[in-house]
Amino acid sequence: ANAEILRQTLSGQKKKKIAVMTSGGDSPGMNAAVRAVVRTGIHFGCDVFAVYEGYEGLLKGGNYLRKMEWEDVRGWLSEGGTLIGTARCMEFKERWGRKQAAGNLISQGIDALIVCGGDGSLTGADLFRHEWPSLVEELVKDGKFTKEQVEPYKNLTMVGLVGSIDNDMAGTDSTIGAYSALERICEMVDYIDETAKSHSRAFVVEVMGRHCGWLALMAGIATGADYIFIPERAVPHGKWQDELKEVCQRHRNKGRRNNTVIVAEGALDDLLNPVTTEDVKNVLVDLGLDTKVTILGHVQRGGTAVAHDRWLATLQGVDSVKAVLEMTPSTPSPLIGILENKIIRKPLVESVEATKSVATAIANKDFDAAISKRDTEFIELYENFLSTTVKDDGAELLPEDQRLNIGIVHVGAPSAALNAATRAATLYCISHGHKPFAILNGFSGLIQTGQMKELSWIDVENWHNLGGSEIGTNRSVAADDMGTVAYYFQKAKLDGLIIIGGFEGFNSLKQLRDSRSEYPIFNIPMVLIPSTISNNVPGTEYSLGVDTCLNALVRYTDEIKQSASATRRRVFVVEVQGGHSGFIASFTGLITGAVSVYTPEDKITLSTIREDLALLKENFRHDKGENRNGKLVIRNEQASSVYSTELLANIISESSKDRFGVRTAIPGHVQQGGFPSSKDRVVASRFAVKCVKFIEQWNKKNNIQQDKGAGDEKVLRFKFDIHGNKVSTVEHEDDSAAVICVNGTNVSFKPIADLWEHETNVALRKGEEIHWSEFSRIGDILSGRLKLRAEV
Ligand code: ATP
Repeated sequence: ANAEILRQTLSGQKKKKIAVMTSGGDSPGMNAAVRAVVRTGIHFGCDVFAVYEGYEGLLKGGNYLRKMEWEDVRGWLSEGGTLIGTARCMEFKERWGRKQAAGNLISQGIDALIVCGGDGSLTGADLFRHEWPSLVEELVKDGKFTKEQVEPYKNLTMVGLVGSIDNDMAGTDSTIGAYSALERICEMVDYIDETAKSHSRAFVVEVMGRHCGWLALMAGIATGADYIFIPERAVPHGKWQDELKEVCQRHRNKGRRNNTVIVAEGALDDLLNPVTTEDVKNVLVDLGLDTKVTILGHVQRGGTAVAHDRWLATLQGVDSVKAVLEMTPSTPSPLIGILENKIIRKPLVESVEATKSVATAIANKDFDAAISKRDTEFIELYENFLSTTVKDDGAELLPEDQRLNIGIVHVGAPSAALNAATRAATLYCISHGHKPFAILNGFSGLIQTGQMKELSWIDVENWHNLGGSEIGTNRSVAADDMGTVAYYFQKAKLDGLIIIGGFEGFNSLKQLRDSRSEYPIFNIPMVLIPSTISNNVPGTEYSLGVDTCLNALVRYTDEIKQSASATRRRVFVVEVQGGHSGFIASFTGLITGAVSVYTPEDKITLSTIREDLALLKENFRHDKGENRNGKLVIRNEQASSVYSTELLANIISESSKDRFGVRTAIPGHVQQGGFPSSKDRVVASRFAVKCVKFIEQWNKKNNIQQDKGAGDEKVLRFKFDIHGNKVSTVEHEDDSAAVICVNGTNVSFKPIADLWEHETNVALRKGEEIHWSEFSRIGDILSGRLKLRAEV
């Protein structure tokens, strides 16, 4: 398809000229988007122009419209804000302003515009596109151009990228910049919590979001807040004060030393009165709490983009250029979004309309409509937040016979968010009357000591931001002593099991499922939450811990690159983890702008090294004086048994002939540890609750009640007929031993038996399908590696 686009572009009458601009409030990741647009455009044979200072630049024209070269965007991935500037421009809201803008574009031969901004900017862009033919006609009438001159520019192609920290656009799960803002919020609230606990204080924290509570909601989940105020769910006038007091007091009674309340700046009560941080503070003071207010303000907007925003902006930037090349005059302007794990295109007008309708619903006090217009993930997480915090007063307790004993075990190397997932599962269990049992120190811990601990609310209360594993993890698998594992499962009368881990967890799940005929206790629903930085669990594209790991690598590489600016030209060969899976290496390459990436999937050969050497030399040759930062080569730890990190560095060094220095850099365990990123915390909580629900539903569907028996007597699981008679032990139910998987736009539970048989490469401990190969290719396009290879 790419070759066809290229062919069409090149065989066309004119060279395609594309302009890219940023508009509205700046957001981290905008530079990554512009970089991707510039380089993808050039790759496909287009000329790409940057419009400086948003619509203001479009109106002024001249030097505000600058043709961009490949080298101009070097180093932009790690820069915060927007380097091409942004502005609010009242004149663009006027027709004469848009006519002037059209004239400026036509003067440069540009008839495609990629706009990265919020709903206002995209509304303006769509209007501009619709008016374009009439604006062009007027320009001819005004004598600015002749008919012949405008002939090739009769239509404007327009594509929207959503750059906004609020994450307020309908039709996309996240906007460019939202996760960076969330990360900053969580970092700040984590700091605040430390001092709050010391003094036993309450803190009211205001976050951005005039019409959208996404930041407040996600921050509430990720920081373990007691209460949140969001515009979509206005609180009952005159009554919210009592609920707030009741929740905070209840959590204190359970042993919490601090309280955190997150307030979106647009928070309201149901009579549309603003709920301010001062209002909230006064209620907490009234409760007798020493209460402070922190308004985070612009720290949320500033700083460099987190890993998520760098890859989101990069992939969306690439897709926006493809969209430009594929569109016809009748194609509605698309907005490039993301659904779960897939970059998608949506009609821009529909998304903008849906976004505006939330504000309208709020203004009409129709809060059910307002929240229902948010995407399903938002609603799901809002309900989870309520379940795990506000409604943990017994409001959601299930009937006695539906309450379950649920085991939780960590298996494999630690990755961030193991604790966050365990916390969410535990809190959800407790609010529903289930008993969560932590299996301490993995399966070998269970085999050696038989230790399971029933987790309490206060045990897990502060686990949302702890790295590592509070209940202990190790690499041992269940099959090390299946009989003993079965014995302890029976002893605890488990009705379900949540395994959180990587490939060993996957392996354990398979072993437990295979032992069901021998040990009937394993006929319980068992589910794996993939959690490993290698992202090598078969059947899924997503694994907890990856986001934190990528953030750690982004920080690490930003710093070492910067260190080189102080010395002389330098190349770093960075060795990253991942086992036999090149996912982390490929993604790190994509979001750090590495010159080349070596993975186990793409064998290193002498000729690839030679090509990459040529690319490095080319890179240094084009370097301008002001851009002397280091260059990166990323090598997965198992990319080759011959070309070690050291050897690669030596080869590069030798061939550099002193034109640049070479160093190795091995970040090691910082990739597994550290505080979980805000995204990992949120996804951990979402998946954990989904897994408890999966266990609940499977038991319910099969009408299973545990025969709890007395003492240690043998417990079997039974199926009951509609009259309540025991009919048989439960047969193998393969769909009850499953992995929670993300594939494209889908989240589903896939049976381990199928995954093992059809999707697993057991020898290499990963899936048969390399789900990131497209991203490796994009990384190679944006580094110039693909072009160079084609030329060689
Ligand atoms: P943010 O989410 O940061 O508010 P935004 O893109 O919604 O971003 P706005 O200030 O609403 O920010 O819009 C940015 C610019 O887009 C405006 O200054 C104006 O130039 C243009 N714009 C906004 N709405 C329209 C419109 N209805 N018609 C034409 N142009 C518009």
